[in-house]
Amino acid sequence: ARRNVLITGCSSGIGLAIAVKMAKDEQKRFKVFATMRNLAKKEPLEAAAGHRLGKTLEIKQLDVCDEQSIKTCVNSIPDRRIDVLVSNAGMGLIGPIECQSIEEMKTVMDTNFFGLVRLLKEILPDMKRRKSGHIVIISSVMGIQGILFNDVYAASKFAVEGFCESLAIQALKFKLQLSLIEPGPVVTEFERKVFEDGMKMDLSAADEETAEMFTNIYLKNYKQIFQSLGQSAEDVAEIILAENPPFRHQTNTLYTPMTTLKYADPNGDLPIDIFYKMVFQHDKIFSASLNFIKLLRWRSRKSFDLGKPSQ
Ligand code: NAD
Repeated sequence: ARRNVLITGCSSGIGLAIAVKMAKDEQKRFKVFATMRNLAKKEPLEAAAGHRLGKTLEIKQLDVCDEQSIKTCVNSIPDRRIDVLVSNAGMGLIGPIECQSIEEMKTVMDTNFFGLVRLLKEILPDMKRRKSGHIVIISSVMGIQGILFNDVYAASKFAVEGFCESLAIQALKFKLQLSLIEPGPVVTEFERKVFEDGMKMDLSAADEETAEMFTNIYLKNYKQIFQSLGQSAEDVAEIILAENPPFRHQTNTLYTPMTTLKYADPNGDLPIDIFYKMVFQHDKIFSASLNFIKLLRWRSRKSFDLGKPSQ
């Protein structure tokens, strides 16, 4: 029998790409319920799904910030059976925190974190009862490492990661699979929206140095980072179909040296130091990279030493 897949945030980007990829599966293993907050935005998905529409793909309304809309959507699926849940809906927020309202920040937490919690409150009990189900969460590399001017977004993804890490232990008992997908930069609407909001931001609440840092360093390099490191939504979608995915999966190999820094130094200073040098002291980045390599060598020697039988 086909596996029922529910995906959130399918009007654009990664959600749309995953929905189409699964609907076009050659072995026809999936029935995709591609959901979106606003059905008026369904045209790009309809066009991409083509003749699969109404066959292996159905479009439904779901707002992750609205419990009733989640319930109505799940109730409309035969036997409420969701075999695979892809929690993808999310939003970004950049800029100095002095210039962001608590309301804006709460919307980010409400979408990125509580959105997932609401979905699971509705769907997890059925999965537990059936002792089968796979939950895929689109997290981010910012769920493991913070980046300049992404304070609240990173916090929302850290919340997702902590929540899932705790839940994964229980899930194992119920034979459920949980996987966190951690993309680096992906070229989607997300990137465009976040950049445009950043450009429009009222920076009057920030001091001159901070405002300057945001406009002349962060925003200036923003597009370039996406151009040089960015993946496509399709690249990320490709990973979803992997058999037996690990608990954490970083999709962007160009980005992994950055996240490796975190694991290389348990004290946490190394990644902060390297990010600082990358942003503020371009010329020092080479010596910083060198120190990183030295540290890795030192660590591998240490672990080698630890492996030696004690005398
Ligand atoms: P996107 O903006 O194209 O897609 C996000 C989707 O979520 C949109 O369709 C949007 O309408 C939807 N959404 C927002 N609020 C919603 C709500 N309340 N209910 C239902 N849907 C809602 O961007 P994307 O890059 O495809 O983002 C998808 C996921 O990937 C997000 O969770 C994002 O945090 C994550 N991500 C993106 C990047 C990136 O660089 N683009 C990197 C890492 C992780």
